[in-house]
Amino acid sequence: MLDICEIFVSIQGEGWRQGTSAVFIRFYGCNLRCKFCDTRVAFTKKQSMDEKEIVEIVRRLSRKYNNITNIIITGGEPYLQDFSNLVLQLKLSGFFVCVETNGTIWREIPLDWICVSPKKSAKKLLQQGYDKRFKDVANEFKYVITGKHDFSFIDSKITKPVILQPVNNDLKIALMIFKQIKKCSMPNWFLRFQIHKLMGIL
Ligand code: SF4
Repeated sequence: MLDICEIFVSIQGEGWRQGTSAVFIRFYGCNLRCKFCDTRVAFTKKQSMDEKEIVEIVRRLSRKYNNITNIIITGGEPYLQDFSNLVLQLKLSGFFVCVETNGTIWREIPLDWICVSPKKSAKKLLQQGYDKRFKDVANEFKYVITGKHDFSFIDSKITKPVILQPVNNDLKIALMIFKQIKKCSMPNWFLRFQIHKLMGIL
């Protein structure tokens, strides 16, 4: 059984794969409490479901919305629970399975796409805010930038795409990020807004 917060269809509004439609499976619970968290619903709304039930709901939603094949497992923090069997069943059903994680808990789960979003509040647990075993398997990293002080938290040794996301789509912070990218000449750093919020989708 897995503790799930909600399952719904929306647009991927963030990161490298933004703009794609997806079925989101939001997991219940998180081991962090970031000040800027915009998914606090994951701390309170919970329903226990087995993998078969989840896959059935996903299949139904996929059919309803033109056979969406893209699945995003998010939270909260999905890696608090072992969701490897769910991933296996989704992949056997032909879905492309992505995950969004804060990267603090390591499990070897064969996903199609891993987005690690290290958070400063995890620094007391892990030096760079994420488990280094994600470094090789993650497809992208994403940092929420709230001010200049956050730039030193970014692991500059990451070679995968690094998305820098201004908190709450703040334009002043976006400009700050742009200047930082120019100054550092990091070819794998990218400024990205949360486009779902720009469109009024929460
Ligand atoms: S890691 Fe993500 S879900 Fe957890 S508190 Fe931070 S922003 Fe919210």
